[in-house]
Amino acid sequence: MDYFSGHLANLVTQLGRLPGIGTKTAQRLAFHILSMPPEQAESLAEAITEARANVRYCKTCCTLTDAEECPICSNPQRDHETIMVVETPRDLAAYEKTGRYNGVYHVLHGAISPMMGIGPEDIRMKELMRRLSGNVKEVIIATNSSLEGETTAMYLSKLIRPTGIKTTRIASGVPVGGDLEYIDEVTLMRALEGRTEL
Ligand code: ZN
Repeated sequence: MDYFSGHLANLVTQLGRLPGIGTKTAQRLAFHILSMPPEQAESLAEAITEARANVRYCKTCCTLTDAEECPICSNPQRDHETIMVVETPRDLAAYEKTGRYNGVYHVLHGAISPMMGIGPEDIRMKELMRRLSGNVKEVIIATNSSLEGETTAMYLSKLIRPTGIKTTRIASGVPVGGDLEYIDEVTLMRALEGRTEL
């Protein structure tokens, strides 16, 4: 890529590190950024720096937030005795968009994957188990229906069983291998309503 200036080449390299961005897309984005008014490009760079410096994990549910505790965990109107376990903050956002779930969440930040060498200690499972010593009526396992999501669900249900807390799994209206964030709200609600006890 030595026909590009060093700065441009660096921008392409950095953008190319993002998931789903190949070299061609990285180049297209880089040219687009360079054609932006300077203040707009600065706002973009600043947004990245600020978010990276200030966004952290909620001390309760582990989702990404600006404060010590996220707005959902600190909301007294939510049902804190029902915890929905999801893989990522994007999955949490998908359920929040339906506007029909009033419980709280727990974000694992991944799923167990023996193939990728990701074990229970690599995701936020300990934090979830710690929460279960409080007042919890139901844990809804809403991990994806991929092999990893199912493995995680099975592992979790075994771990939770001795506590006697009701554990449910969302219905498999969610297509196999389906990423929760791409599924429409009606399907999500159906999956939630049709959950079964484990
Ligand atoms: Zn939270």
